[in-house]
Amino acid sequence: MTSIPRNVAVIGAGIVGVSTALWLAREGQQVTLVDRAGPGEATSFGNAGLLASAATLPVPGPGLLRKAPRMALDPREPLYLRMRHLPALAPWLFRYLRHASAEAARKRADAILPLIGDSLADHQALASGTPAEKYVLPCDYVYGYADRSGFEADRFSWDLRTAQGFDFSVMDRTAFRSYDPIFGDAIGCAVRMPNHGRISDPGAYVKALAAAAEGLGAKFVRSEAKGIVRKDGQVRGLRLDGDTLPCDTVVVAAGAWSKELTRSLGLVVPLHPESGFHIELWDPSQTPRAPLMFAAGKFVITPMEGRIRLAGMVGYGGFDAPPPEAPYRMFLRHLKKALPGLEWKETTRWMGHRPAMADSLPMIGPVPGISGVYTGFGHDHVGLTAGPKTGRILAQMISGRRPNIDVGPFAPERFSC
Ligand SMILES: Cc1cc2nc3c(=O)[nH]c(=O)nc-3n(C[C@H](O)[C@H](O)[C@H](O)COP(=O)(O)OP(=O)(O)OC[C@H]3O[C@@H](n4cnc5c(N)ncnc54)[C@H](O)[C@@H]3O)c2cc1C
Repeated sequence: MTSIPRNVAVIGAGIVGVSTALWLAREGQQVTLVDRAGPGEATSFGNAGLLASAATLPVPGPGLLRKAPRMALDPREPLYLRMRHLPALAPWLFRYLRHASAEAARKRADAILPLIGDSLADHQALASGTPAEKYVLPCDYVYGYADRSGFEADRFSWDLRTAQGFDFSVMDRTAFRSYDPIFGDAIGCAVRMPNHGRISDPGAYVKALAAAAEGLGAKFVRSEAKGIVRKDGQVRGLRLDGDTLPCDTVVVAAGAWSKELTRSLGLVVPLHPESGFHIELWDPSQTPRAPLMFAAGKFVITPMEGRIRLAGMVGYGGFDAPPPEAPYRMFLRHLKKALPGLEWKETTRWMGHRPAMADSLPMIGPVPGISGVYTGFGHDHVGLTAGPKTGRILAQMISGRRPNIDVGPFAPERFSC
């Protein structure tokens, strides 16, 4: 329980906002969680469910600049660029690609490790004592390559993971077949990382966490947040569709949609929506033993309750473009080769938007110059992994306590204008 009770409005009921609300409620704060949809219905619904502690490297690693033009034009590559969207994308993309170097990748990896390195324990602590506990499962995380040369080509990443203290073991085709017999011959080299975790139903999990926060007194309001009401440099309320919610603290945790809300706060935030896709195969004849990343396809196959989910890839088309067909075809092409005997009853598909920052680091902390506004967004490919720790850090900051990790790299003030 904190000595300075706050009246906090959290905008966004994805994994980040819901984790923040639950930790705040446990701190004894008065919390209102605001979302225009229900909890866990946007990006936090459709991800691969992986608690990817070892995913410390950013997407724009060394070599991306050389590969990018081919990736954008070759339909066999897991990148989908809507040419009409290019003018809107270009300023962000330019800044993003400036980080595509070994030095920037190492810097990002070191900065994000304390936020994601203990993700399974962070989720267990968040869900502890709530019905959400049942969705948090320990597991390996496996990388699958067609052959050893794919693994060797990724040496930079594996050397960095070794330096960061992650354990892994490399399996050849035969060893992998005995590790997980449901796979065929398409994976000739696999890397097994122990001590990871998965969420067996990401959407249901976030809903269960939100219900737990409500059980501790948090309120849920279904409405669109339009702006933050301020007076004399202090937050006074949150403007909603129709009325104003009085509060003294606001957390912007609106995922890929957060830029609009921060525009009036003196921040120029290089945030862009990055599309990602999934298909689900319901009632499958077999399920994989652990989540597996198809390195060539840049997607993960994860066992989930009643289905297998294939999720990942990258697209740039803005919020309003319809989903392209190509990623769904690509999922099925890889699947046919890797799991030739698999049968299932029904297929469902989805597209969502990752909150992608140009420097691949989230924005977590107080907004400079205004008392009572905090941000918690921009976690791109690792928002599920990092959500609970982000929420705990924000709850600590709001309650006047110092987080026990270096939050300097995530400070919103890096984008003050
Ligand atoms: C295909 C795919 C696979 C992925 N796989 C993984 C994975 O395996 N592991 C991992 O760690 N991460 C993964 N991610 C990334 C992860 O899903 C995201 O980083 C994470 O869900 C972001 O959570 P969030 O709470 O910031 O945003 P969201 O879940 O998008 O929540 C934002 C919420 O804000 C609400 N909102 C927005 N604007 C307003 C407003 N003005 N007023 C009211 N409400 C508003 C929205 O309705 C939404 O509910 C994946 C992403 C994709 C697309």
